Amino acid sequence: MTARSCGGCSACCTALGVTDLPVPKPRGVRCDHIVPGGGCSTYASKPSSCCAYTCGWLHGVGAEDDRPDRLGIIVETQPALDGGASVIVLRECSPGAINASRGAGLARTFADRTVVLLVRMAGGIGVMGPQHRVQVYQQAAIALGYGPGTVRK
Ligand code: SF4
Ligand code: SF4
Repeated sequence: MTARSCGGCSACCTALGVTDLPVPKPRGVRCDHIVPGGGCSTYASKPSSCCAYTCGWLHGVGAEDDRPDRLGIIVETQPALDGGASVIVLRECSPGAINASRGAGLARTFADRTVVLLVRMAGGIGVMGPQHRVQVYQQAAIALGYGPGTVRK
């Protein structure tokens, strides 16, 4: 399989908060350093959190056409809190994308095997997956940092 690259996508540079910029930017605000067509104007000195971040799509999660700027959703994998399989986070970067057919289909597919956190632009966090794990994550999702103000990690 050919390695994926961000190309023209800069979805995470808007969707996620970045606290280690000289002027921190909140979640959902387009970063001033985004270059038209994708890329970063401060690439050589960008914050360490930007250097460290990669979304799931870059690692082969989802189809080629599911690049976050096209899908409207950033897929991330996060370590589990409860000793179970890693958690999938679907982070909306286009309003309503989680409820659209492709987004909803991906959520159902992932939820067959693990916990899925649905982070919508409108606010609120949905949890899908095995029932015994859903209860744990419903209580913990905001404490985990998936709510408003989420930072890149
Ligand atoms: S969302 Fe993924 S593909 Fe898009 S710019 Fe960020 S890391 Fe790259
Ligand atoms: S500094 Fe560069 S990599 Fe970091 S959010 Fe802004 S555009 Fe993206």
